[in-house]
Amino acid sequence: MEYLNHELCMGPLKKNLLTLFQNYSKPVYVYDRDLITLRYKEMSTALKNCRIYFAVKANPNVEVLKTLKSLGCGADVVSLGEIRRAMEAGFPAAEIVYSGVAKTHKDIREALCLGVYQINVESLQELERIAKVANDLKVKAPIALRLNPDIDIKTHPYIATGLKDNKFGIELSLIPQIKAILLQNPQVVLKGVSLHLGSMMMEFSGYADALKKLRDVYLDLRKDFASVQRFDFGGGLGVLYDRYDLAEEASLLNQYAQITLEILGGLGAELQSEPGRWLVAHAGALIGQVQYIKPTSAKTFVILDTGMNHLLRPALYGARHRIIPLQQRTGEMTVDVVGPICESADFLSKDCVMSPVQEGDLVAILDSGAYGFSMANNYNLQDMPEEIII
Ligand SMILES: *Cc1c(COP(=O)(O)O)cnc(C)c1O
Repeated sequence: MEYLNHELCMGPLKKNLLTLFQNYSKPVYVYDRDLITLRYKEMSTALKNCRIYFAVKANPNVEVLKTLKSLGCGADVVSLGEIRRAMEAGFPAAEIVYSGVAKTHKDIREALCLGVYQINVESLQELERIAKVANDLKVKAPIALRLNPDIDIKTHPYIATGLKDNKFGIELSLIPQIKAILLQNPQVVLKGVSLHLGSMMMEFSGYADALKKLRDVYLDLRKDFASVQRFDFGGGLGVLYDRYDLAEEASLLNQYAQITLEILGGLGAELQSEPGRWLVAHAGALIGQVQYIKPTSAKTFVILDTGMNHLLRPALYGARHRIIPLQQRTGEMTVDVVGPICESADFLSKDCVMSPVQEGDLVAILDSGAYGFSMANNYNLQDMPEEIII
């Protein structure tokens, strides 16, 4: 995002948002296709020889998915709904990896009938359920074990998933029991191991420890199961929300890739990655309109027609998104930017230092391409936002 002639422009081709939204009527998520393409290419270059499966939950927009599909990406999903969406966007089942802690009998049956590439199994109980469903259907079930290495990546507690008090993954101490189930159920084919430590990783020491732990588990499993050949090292690479610094992000990406390839490169395994946020966060903005400027004795509120109903991250995680007007103005003001919802958690930015805005101005809530629309809801029966790709 940058201003050209004081008008906000988006993406590598600097598409003018002020012109695009001159007939604005309601909040819109806008995605830049060129930036998604750029990010995908950058990541697939850094993670050379790894297969990338986009975490659909970050942004399930069909056009976004089609864009990634056309670049050679696969899909990582966590529900039947996401499987259907991915297939609607053109991903064949054979390019879909299916994770998630609560797969029902029906979910598993459908996934196996469709022929998904891999089911990432999150518990011993799920493994037994898959064995039963595969047996009933008389099909093979290709699975990977999502392992929980009990490692801290120092992220927000709501997006940490690799600690033993998280609901995700299988504890390493259960491996002997898992092996026993697999040996009794040859219809379940162990293809590999998988890992996902959480989201917004900006530092990689815990990640490196986890990879080393799971490398040993991989080698151990391989001794008993010749079908083991895949290592899915998850997603979770973070992005900067407080500033635009592509050089810093490239450096983080390169550290992440180097650690991954150093630790896993010698395995001869098929390496799989499941990034979500990193590919799409910067490529999206939520556009809303200033309805009121409301000064009170405590602070000034900028009240928009969009809020936690459309972008939940500030309310849920205390996430900070930069908010800037489409028409650049000089000066600054310190305000709380809030939405229309009847909750005091309905804020987009607290004590936000931003360019001055007036009633009727359009603003962009930046870096909203990941976990934006996908978490949107119509609480208070406010309309859902629109989505467009440019
Ligand atoms: C959410 C999720 C991802 C993607 O995480 P990002 O932080 O968006 O990269 C990858 N794998 C699994 C299993 C997930 O649940």
